[in-house]
Formats: sequence, C-alpha cells, structure tokens
Amino acid sequence: MERSQIPDTYKWKLEPIFADDAAFEASLSAMTKDRAMLASYQGKLSKPSELLACLELYFQTRLQTNKLTLYGNLRFDSHQKDTQAQALHEKSLDAMNALMAAASFIRQEILALDDAAVAKAYAAEPGLSKYKPYVDEVRRRRAHVLGAEAEKVLTLAEDNLWAEIDLNELPSDHEKTFKGLLADIPLPKIHDETNQEVQLTLSSFVKYRGSSDRRVRKEAVDALFGTLHQYRHALAGTLSGQIRRNVFLARARGYNTALEAYLHKDDIDPAVYKNLVSTIHANLAPLHRYMALRKRTMGVDELRIYDLYTPMVETVKTQFTYEQARDVLPKALAPLGEDYLSVLRQGLDPGNGWIDVYPHRDKDSGAFSASVFGLHPYVKMNYFNDVDDMSTLAHEFGHALHSHLSMNNQPYVTASYSMFNAEIASTFNEKLLSDYLIENAKSDAERLYLLNELVETIRTTIYRQTLFAEFEWLIHTAAEKGTPLTAEFFAKTYESLIRSYYGEHFTLGKDDGMEWAYIPHFYYKYYVFTYATGLSSGIALAQRVLSEGEQARNAYLGMLKGGSSKPPLDLLRDAGVDLSKPDAIAGAAKLLDDTLAKMEKILAAQKK
Ligand SMILES: [Zn+2]
Repeated sequence: MERSQIPDTYKWKLEPIFADDAAFEASLSAMTKDRAMLASYQGKLSKPSELLACLELYFQTRLQTNKLTLYGNLRFDSHQKDTQAQALHEKSLDAMNALMAAASFIRQEILALDDAAVAKAYAAEPGLSKYKPYVDEVRRRRAHVLGAEAEKVLTLAEDNLWAEIDLNELPSDHEKTFKGLLADIPLPKIHDETNQEVQLTLSSFVKYRGSSDRRVRKEAVDALFGTLHQYRHALAGTLSGQIRRNVFLARARGYNTALEAYLHKDDIDPAVYKNLVSTIHANLAPLHRYMALRKRTMGVDELRIYDLYTPMVETVKTQFTYEQARDVLPKALAPLGEDYLSVLRQGLDPGNGWIDVYPHRDKDSGAFSASVFGLHPYVKMNYFNDVDDMSTLAHEFGHALHSHLSMNNQPYVTASYSMFNAEIASTFNEKLLSDYLIENAKSDAERLYLLNELVETIRTTIYRQTLFAEFEWLIHTAAEKGTPLTAEFFAKTYESLIRSYYGEHFTLGKDDGMEWAYIPHFYYKYYVFTYATGLSSGIALAQRVLSEGEQARNAYLGMLKGGSSKPPLDLLRDAGVDLSKPDAIAGAAKLLDDTLAKMEKILAAQKK
C-alpha cells in the first residue's frame, strides 16, 4: 500500500508544527542565529539580569528546536524513502545536539554558584522564579560535581551520567561492540514447520521461539544459545567493560554504588529498586503456579525455556477496525471521567490530525506518541485491525493524554514528565481495556485467550524485567567488590536467577544461562527496572480508580497533570502508589494469581 492510497483523514497533519518544509528551513536558520547568541552570555551568569536573559533565550531556543525535531521525526517516519524528509530529520537532530553543546556552559555556571548567590539572584530578579524548577534540578546533584580539572577528564572520558538528554541515547563503545558482535556472529540454519531449511536471524528467532511446533522452537533456541556459548568470552568482555565503566563513573563522582549514581539521575531512591527485587522474590509463587499450569496444559514432560513463548491456549482474536476501536476505547476508559474522555475522543477523531493510523510501504514499523509544548500530541500507529493494535492504541493514547494534561497544566519548564513515570499512564489504559475485553468476551475460549494475554504481560513485563534488573544489580555489585566478570560468572549468575524465578516445574537446559548474552537492556544502565515498576504502578492505580472512584481518579489525574513539578516518586505517591513499599508489586503478583485461578477454572470446565 502506498501512502497516497490512504485517505488523508487517516494521516496526521503537521501544519500546526510547520506549514511546510520551507517553514521548517526558515525556523531552522532563525534558530541557528538564536543559538549563536547564547555564547554572548558565557562567563556572565553570576549576574542575575544576565542569567535571566540567558535562560529566556535558552528556553525559547529549546522549544523551537523541539518543534524542529518533532517535525523532522514525523515527516521522515511516514516517508522513509524520501531523501528530503531524511535530510530534514538529520538536520533537526544536529540542531538539537548543537544546542546541547552550545548550552552546556549554562549548567556549569549555575552549578558554580553558591547557595547564597542563588538566593540573591532570585531576590534581585523576580522573573527568575519561573526557572526555579530548572535551576533546582541542575543543582540537585551539585554535591557530585568535581573540580575543573577532574570535570575536564570526565568529559574526555565521555561521562554521560551528566548529560541533559537521555543517557541511553548515546551508546558507549561497549554497547557498539555488543551490537557489532550480534551483527557479525554467524547464526546457523534451522528447519521451519514445513521442514524447510531457513537461516536463523535475531529477528526471526522471536518468531521461531514462539512456534507451536516444539521441534522448531527447540531448534531455534538451541541454535541461538549454542552459538552465543561459542562466542561467550567476547560477549562477556564487552559487557564487563560496560559494567566496569559504570562503576568507574559512579566512583569518580563520589557515589557508593553505580545503582545509587544512575538512579540519582531521576531522583529515585535505591530503596525502590531493592524493594522491587525483594518483593518479587517474596511473590514468586504465582509465577511457579503459572509454570505448573503451562506444563500441564501443554502436556509436556519437561517445561523448558523454549516452551515459554508459544501460545498455551487457543488463539481467539476478535478483529476491531479503527472506527470500532474509536467506539470501544472511550467505553473501556470510562472510569477516567468525562474530561479525560472528551480529549481522548478529540485525539481519536482522525480528522483532528493527531494520528497517523495505517501502515504503508514508506512508513516505519511500530507505534509511538510524541509531543511538543503548545501543540497537540501526535500518535503514530500501524493499525491492522487486530485486538493487539487496539491495545497499542490504548497504550499510546495513555502517553498522548499524559502529555496533553501535563502541557495544559504546567509551564514549559515543568511540562515534560520523567522517564520513570512514562510507562504508567500507558499501562494503566491497557489494563482498563483488558478488563473491558475480558468482561465482554463472547465465549470462554476468547476469555481464556485474553486472560492468558494478561498473564503473559505480567510475566514478561514484571517478572522477566525484574529478573533482568536483579542480574544487572548482581553483576554491578560483583564488579564493585572486584569479582572478575567472566563468561562463566555471568552464566552461573543468570542460571541461578532462572532457577529461582521459574521454580520447580521448570527444567533448566544446558545453555539457558547464555540468555544474558543477547539482551541489550544490560547496556541501558539501570533502566530496565522501570518497566516493572511502571506496569505494577499502572495496575495498582487502575485498580484503585475502579474500586475507589472519584477521589482516586482525581489523585491519578493529578499525577498526569503534574508533569515534572515534583520528583517522580512524590507525584506517584500523591496519586496513591508508594514504590518504597511492597504493595503495588505484591498487588500485581496477586493479579497474576487471581487471573491464573480464572484460567484454571475455564480449563477444568473445558475438559468435562
Ligand atoms: Zn510506552
């Protein structure tokens, strides 16, 4: 399908950002001039009037650059083979990088001020109070700033612990080596369901691992893990390098552990991380119950790692066209109240230009939501009329509405929310939709399928990501103690985690401990745990809004409206979830247990 064959109604409208590419170019050159003017403030920020003028210019330029990157991103996403669109996209990213470099003196000069000087600046220039959240955020980690010489060395060492943009956007050399290894390592051929010889690749692996033919999925997993085992020393070398680098940067800045350093970036107490891991350990029984049910239902004598991704019950998927989804979503999300629903309906109405609905030849895969202050959010979909697409739509509109509510209730300085809270609004919506679909299922077989989807979401997003998070923590701790991070150490550590997470109904294979070797998340520097805390929080808040009504709903909406006006954990606590306590995570484990009980009941009835 070509983009031109899709009715214009179902495409996003970029005019609110820029009327056309010429307007983008005009803005880019104006922005380049503004950015150059920033340099005139360098060395002068101890003077309050200069500080204020500089921040005004910086934020104005940053907003302009945000628009450039949004336009470049959306324009290129739906025109992948258009070299003009690609050039715009690259120019916009270059503009953002140039701005970050041109503005780095602002951060350094704000950090160099002492508290008395900052207090004096606020008194002298009342206009500065508007930028207080930014100044406070820059100064929050002031205790970990070193002297000029040391800072210079750390900059040369490419310390990204301090970057204003997302630290995982800049891959380290170790991560590049990891990706290079995965691209270079030759994978063997395997035999598909029709016994044809096919080349195994990392992307086809996911498909073959989920095959309903046990021989095929075993062959795929044995082939990948066996190959990784052959290259284990190179793979261990590069992961060890990444972990040791994280430990080095954390220590250089005076943190006790890498965990403390990397969580401090988002103002997260390490206790939250430890609480996640210990609560999951105390609640492994539902996962073991799931493994037992899987083994029984699949009728296998041993439940192996290659048996975890294949559908365990009959796949019964109802189709929903986009127009049907527009009707279902407001019903499923009704507990969020009329104000939320009216914005949702507005965004879902394709005529309003928020959304790009359908896939076509020149469009990138996947889905996302993207926003810039002052404009409506944008949502990219590849809608195929599948129930999973409707779930993705609920997820992305969770992000879009979160952005909309933040932007309409916060000034630009605090309008964007922390990465840590990003996956709460999206999973909240998925949970409400899941409840609605289960409630309205037309048969037991369909209900069973939907229940199993919920079980799989909890297993893969909460338990599996916590397993990753625990592995990441264990290997950093070992590095901090001076234990050599060898391939054997990684495999043993990983193996013992699989054993305890999956329990007695699971049988460990010879190379299962090699799974660590192809997981990119271990290069993301203490990021993976936010998947587990995000979904646990989303589930807990959805359950609270359903059972407690208006007050709980307003508290939740308050978090969505709060942007980054408070630290992420405080916003979440005000909404009703305290992640330093076990409740939300234990609640998700209980939901797994309850859902398994419902599945067991239907399965037992089907046998009769
Ligand atoms: Zn998301």
